[in-house]
Parts: sequence; C-alpha cells; structure tokens
Amino acid sequence: MSSSHLSSSAETAARVVSFEVARHLVEQHAMGVCPGEVATVDLLAGLGRVLAEEMVADRDFPPFARATRDGYAVRTADLAEVPARLEVVGEVKAGDWPDPAQCSVGRGQAVGIMTGAPLPAGADAVVMVEHTSLAALAAGNSVEVRRSVGAGENFVPRGAEARAGQRLLDRGRRLDHAGVAIAASVGKSQLQVFRKPRVAVLSTGDEVVEIDATPGPAQIRNSNSYSLAAQVRNAGGEAVRLGIARDERGQLRALIEEGLGCDLLLLTGGVSMGKYDLVEQVLGELKAEFYFTGAEIQPGRPVVFGSCGADTPVRLPAAGALSTRTGVPALHKKYFFGLPGNPVSTMVTFELFARPMIEALAGMTPPRLVFQRARLKSEIRTKTGLKRFLPAVLSGEFENAEVELARWQGSGDIAALAQANCYVVIPPERERIEAGEWVPLLMR
Ligand code: AMP
Ligand code: MG
Repeated sequence: MSSSHLSSSAETAARVVSFEVARHLVEQHAMGVCPGEVATVDLLAGLGRVLAEEMVADRDFPPFARATRDGYAVRTADLAEVPARLEVVGEVKAGDWPDPAQCSVGRGQAVGIMTGAPLPAGADAVVMVEHTSLAALAAGNSVEVRRSVGAGENFVPRGAEARAGQRLLDRGRRLDHAGVAIAASVGKSQLQVFRKPRVAVLSTGDEVVEIDATPGPAQIRNSNSYSLAAQVRNAGGEAVRLGIARDERGQLRALIEEGLGCDLLLLTGGVSMGKYDLVEQVLGELKAEFYFTGAEIQPGRPVVFGSCGADTPVRLPAAGALSTRTGVPALHKKYFFGLPGNPVSTMVTFELFARPMIEALAGMTPPRLVFQRARLKSEIRTKTGLKRFLPAVLSGEFENAEVELARWQGSGDIAALAQANCYVVIPPERERIEAGEWVPLLMR
C-alpha cells in the first residue's frame, strides 16, 4: 500500500488538527455564510443585536467648536506674556448660540465660557478658570490670566470627531452601549438589525434524561442542552432545543434531519470512539462533509465540524429544505458541530468553535480570538501534546491580576467549572509553568 493511499484514507476516516487550524477552518467557513432577514427594533431592544444598517453622522461632530473646559474664551496672541489682564465682554453657557454681533472676542478681551458651549467668534483657545482670577471693577469685569495657552487648546473644532455623512458604525457590528450612544446621537430611535440565527441543540446519550425527570441510578440530567442554549443566546442566536436522541441510528438520524432545518446544528455527546458513539456515522450516512473530526485540545479533543447539503447561495426563510424540479428535497448547506458530551468539554468547544459561526450567521464578522494575560499564582505541571484550556480562577485587583487553576476532576466537573471564571491556556509543548509566569487566559 502506498503512503499516499494511507494518508488519504486516514484523512477521510479522521482529521485531527491543531487548535489553530481548527479555529481558522471555522473562521474561513464563517466568512462565507449569509445572515438572515432584517427586522426593525427600538433602540434599546437593539442592544446585543447585530446592525443591518450603518450608522452615519447626520451632522458634524461636534456640530460647533465645543469648549471642553470651564473658563474664558481668549485670543492666544493676548497671552504672549502672563499674567495678563483681559476685559470680560460676555458669557456663553452650554446651549447658548453666541451672536457674533454681540458676543465675540476682540483684542484684549475674553468671554466667560462653560464646558459644552460654542466658542465665540474671535477666540482661538479656552483658558481654564483655575488659572484665572476675576476682578469686578466699576467699568465692568476683568480677568487676570496667570497661565498662557496654545491656539486650539481646550476646545474641539467643529467636525473634528466626524464630518456629516461619515460612517460611525459599520453594518455587522454588534450593538453595545457605545453603539447605543452613537445611534442615539444621530437620532436613531429605531434600528435595522439582523434576525437571530436559529440554532438547533441536540443532546445524545442513552444515560441522559430530561431535567425534570428523577434520574435512575445510572442516569444523568441533560444539562448540556441548557448550557448550550444559554451560550447560543449569549452569542446572538436563538436556541431550538430538540431534546435527547437515544444512542440508536433511526431516532438520531430523524432528529439530526430536523436540526438541519435550523441555521446551525449543535450536537453533544456521541463523538468519541465508543461503540455507541454514532453521531459521525449517522452524519456520514447523510453525506456530511467533515472539515475536522478532532482538535488537539483538552478538554474537547473529539470535537467535530462539518456541513450537510448543497452549497447554494440562497438562504431559506425557515424550513431549510428546498424542493427541486425533480421533487427531491435538496438541503441548503448547513453547518454542524458535534461537541463532546462531557459538560466542560461542551462549553469550551462551544466558545472556541461554535461561537464564531453563530456570530457570522447573526451578521457579524466574527472577531479574532485573543487571549488575555495574568500572572500565574502557583506552578502548573501537565502533559505535552495538546493545547489545554484548564478552568481557573482569576483574582487580584486593578493591575495585579493573578490566576490559579481550579481544582477539578476533569471534563465532567461542572461544580468546579461554576467556581472558575476563566481558562488558563497552556501550549501543547509546555510541561511545566512556573509560578509568577504570565499565562494566556480565555475569559468566560
Ligand atoms: P459522550 O461524549 O457521549 O461519550 O459523553 C461523555 C460524558 O458526558 C458522559 O459521562 C455523559 O454522561 C456526559 N454527557 C453526555 N451528554 C450529556 C448531557 N446532555 N448533559 C450532561 N452530561 C452529558
Ligand atoms: Mg454518549
């Protein structure tokens, strides 16, 4: 048997890739998906939704030269030598519109000005009130200025932040509080957002029972469907829980087909090497294409990513099945993830791989994954070969973040995970990490 034959058959049977390759494969596929229809929502209902329209400046920002300090509008030429005494010829407060005929700054003059007020004509800077002393004279007020300022100081010129017509937020941005501020300041009380993608969540396993059932001695409650539904919602999708498939081909296949009617299908369990791990086999029967069938990570090594159905550019409203002229239903291409059943593995692999696909289906360009960093509190020893995402507790304060591994019993230990607030990321080649070293973190 030739070596090329060996490698190609090995590739179709199992394609285990590094973490980075797996992540990039998902990102590449995510780039090609189209978001759904558009809906109009009230501004605050748009929080967390993805913009289907851009936000454009409806006028210059700021719309006038805006003072950024309380003090006096001055001509810097008058302050070549300080202290200097200037005649106070008026006052502008926020909301006033100074009429140049009545309120402008001539040679030797100053106008009192408040933060947020328009700079009167003639002035080229604002001197802070802290550097002045006002003297009330019989002939009117005068101000002594003790410090000089440079031209342009303490005000923002008209249009310096943005010009009318300039794009302030791109389509495809997820709206956060800063985005809400932009929408509000351009007068958008209603927004166009993308419909949330519908994400089918299917748990598998003969031992798994619904959460309101009283589990038998060897049964466990279906926590994964719920943790995944929560993660789907956080990522901007809408979860459709399809319940629990037995480890039996017929029912599993029927539920997978139902799940492929959604925009994305997430399965949990049944992707390991056990005799009853049928997920890949059933997906194979449905002519799935597998992009990877494992990633060199822990937890979560058996994670699977693939798609079913034809690669058509049309996006279908709800059902997902398109009838061709021959009457045979052709399924529009749908992606799926087979996530391992161990609850911690399920959660980690969701964050690493499923999240960017949901973000893309929601209309975003999924952001690159960036790890934070913190100082390690106590030494870590581990085995090489896999990139590890170990539950950990980030503590400390302000600039002094420190992190320590949570004590856990492995990928099934949700009790430990609930106490953790991040994962320490350990590269595959590291066996030992000293206390005090800066380590990358995946926040959760
Ligand atoms: P599997 O990936 O199917 O081999 O399952 C691995 C482990 O995860 C087993 O101990 C399962 O009992 C557990 N598990 C599988 N599915 C779920 C689920 N839906 N909720 C909670 N635990 C699960
Ligand atoms: Mg199982």
